[in-house]
Amino acid sequence: MEIKVTASKEYSVIIKNDLSCLKDYAKKVIKGSKIAIITDLTVKDLYLDKVKNEFLDYELYTYSVLSGEDSKSLENYYNILEFLAQNSFKRNDTVIALGGGVIGDLAGFSASTYMRGINLIMIPTTLLSMVDSSVGGKTAVNMPSGKNLVGSFYQPSLVYVCTNFLKTLSKREVLSGMGEIVKYSFIGSGLTALDLNGGITNELIYKCIDIKREIVEKDEQESGDRKLLNLGHTIGHAIEKIENYNLSHGECVLKGLYYALVISNKLGELTNENFDKCLEIIKASSYNNFNTYNKDDIIKYVKTDKKGVYDSVDFIVVDNNLKAKVKRIDLTNLYNII
Ligand code: NAD
Repeated sequence: MEIKVTASKEYSVIIKNDLSCLKDYAKKVIKGSKIAIITDLTVKDLYLDKVKNEFLDYELYTYSVLSGEDSKSLENYYNILEFLAQNSFKRNDTVIALGGGVIGDLAGFSASTYMRGINLIMIPTTLLSMVDSSVGGKTAVNMPSGKNLVGSFYQPSLVYVCTNFLKTLSKREVLSGMGEIVKYSFIGSGLTALDLNGGITNELIYKCIDIKREIVEKDEQESGDRKLLNLGHTIGHAIEKIENYNLSHGECVLKGLYYALVISNKLGELTNENFDKCLEIIKASSYNNFNTYNKDDIIKYVKTDKKGVYDSVDFIVVDNNLKAKVKRIDLTNLYNII
């Protein structure tokens, strides 16, 4: 399966069970002779050799970082730039991001700034990175004072999704991807309960990427519709902090999505009947663990969320067309209805 994304750069997203087409698609976008594969230690052990095998005609380099969010650091970013420079990478050489969203963001940001932009190929290995972060060109690293504070919009020249990689993913990471999948139900052309209750198939992954494509093509730099992708995230991020990061990001997004429906209902955006329809869709993903949290804790963390403007927040609600939309909500009002 192939999806063509037409943003500031036009590129293909290939969805296959295996790596059999990687070489042919990559050849079309690789011009130089050198390739640096950036990965993390877990993915390195599992898949690096398989990916390297597809690029035996090139001069191959590998740079690995520790697995996990802490690797999305300025220090690793600097070290990758230095690694590319030490190995005399030129603008027409290639960086391959082989890993989950952490590697995509880190390698993507490095590629976007090295010599003002070097060829970038994404090979996502987590469900979250397949359906969301590898497509659309957002790259970033974290600062001690906040997540994703330094970054760029930089589109890859190819995204190759090999769904066999999902076989080794932990349940926690699958659920994390599920949060991002379920949010697509209410965005763009949307997903139905039928799409969600068949488990994780290549067709479902295709549909999610196609919704992301739709949004990115309309609003690459997040001045409008791309904000809708934050559905479930405002309160989801607060829950992540309340739970001390013991739950996966996606599970918190699912809980945040439930809150978004309750809030939409209380604000009169969603009738009781449509609330039930939305809930049915979410539950089709097999997730059903919705609980409530202390209001003061939620508001405290929502206030620190970067989307907050003074005493209000740009919240993503779901309306009676079962579609996400942005609504500015006063924080006192939000406190009263959660
Ligand atoms: P991750 O990259 O940390 O991967 C999660 C864990 O799974 C890691 O320990 C990794 O080593 C392991 N792993 C990866 N692939 C595996 C596989 N096939 N089998 C077994 N283990 C595997 O986390 P993630 O959830 O993929 O990404 C989260 C990051 O993505 C966050 O930093 C977030 O900010 C970012 N993000 C970016 C965008 C974007 O548009 N750029 C969108 C959403 C999220």
